[in-house]
Amino acid sequence: MPCFSASFGNASSVHSFGQEAKVALEESRRQIAAVISAESSEIVFTSGGTEADNLAVKGTANVFSGQKKHIVTSAVEHHAVLYTCKYLEKNGFEVTYVPVDKFGLVSPEKVAQEIREETCLVSIMHANNEIGTINPIREIAALTKDSGILFHTDAVQTFGKIPIDVKEMNIDMLSISGHKIYGPKGIGALYIRRGIQIEKIMHGGKHERDRRAGTENIPGAVGLGKAAEICSRSMQEDREKLTELSDDLHLKISQTFLEVYLNGHETQRLPGILNFSFTGVESDSLLLSLDLKGIAVSNGSACSSGTIEPSHVLKALKLPKGLATSSIRFSLGRGNTSDEIDFTVEALQEIVSRLRGLKKGKKLIAA
Ligand code: PLP
Repeated sequence: MPCFSASFGNASSVHSFGQEAKVALEESRRQIAAVISAESSEIVFTSGGTEADNLAVKGTANVFSGQKKHIVTSAVEHHAVLYTCKYLEKNGFEVTYVPVDKFGLVSPEKVAQEIREETCLVSIMHANNEIGTINPIREIAALTKDSGILFHTDAVQTFGKIPIDVKEMNIDMLSISGHKIYGPKGIGALYIRRGIQIEKIMHGGKHERDRRAGTENIPGAVGLGKAAEICSRSMQEDREKLTELSDDLHLKISQTFLEVYLNGHETQRLPGILNFSFTGVESDSLLLSLDLKGIAVSNGSACSSGTIEPSHVLKALKLPKGLATSSIRFSLGRGNTSDEIDFTVEALQEIVSRLRGLKKGKKLIAA
């Protein structure tokens, strides 16, 4: 709060008010860097995960555009990476979208097969935001070591939640977002390994060591720094709690319902994300019914031209259409309790049997 009022300086100003803001900004940079064993100078503040992904992918493409015009990524990346790659394709780049297996995993062997002389970047997300599957990025990053190819990972879902050591894991660039770790919205960062040259995508002043122009969002950065520090301190405890809660939710859902399937990897997964398909139930109806009971979930399908279209992630898993359109995602957090898990299972019991009954009724009427 003081950053909004008392300490209102611009970190680029030379006067003492500016320098006070600069000290706060640099302390946040240090807190963020510490979580991934990076140096402060390797952290560039952005407006969020989307901008960090854009900066990594476009920034690399712009540097190499004269010579190397091939990028390897996966079919299940967040749109911040996927649509940036699509944009680059319109501008003469070739992009390979590596498919995933039925658990959503990107295999290092498949990535290795796609790397060629013209490849300038491999961008594979650490964990998927819809299904929670954690990719073997250490193995994938090793493929690019000493090859002149840069390795970027979108770690928006894992930063502050599972241990990451950028040096040891050979990561060249890593995207971070504030609001996934209880920080403010509209702030993020990109780790760029020292010595790596990428081209900036925001032009203007020489902020952020000339890597991202624009007056820094001090309250946002301070919030992100603090959130990072808290996550780092409570990572183990948070992880244990989330694993317990999500195992409980998984078990109770499996015991209560027939024909419910967990999407994503059974074990190589983030504990906070559980994506289930409830056969015979449309995900929109389930989401809205749960919302009426105060339970907030997401679905991976959107209504497009009157039909429910599964997300690109669910499509990449090659789920049968009926399962893809009946999928909902529970995202558990630090504040959830085991009573809330029981409440959710009870609510699901009532809603799923009602919705399945309605569907059967509809079929009978149609018959
Ligand atoms: N990447 C992943 C994996 C995400 O889950 C998100 C947000 O949901 C983003 C990128 C985009 O981050 P932001 O919302 O900060 O732009």
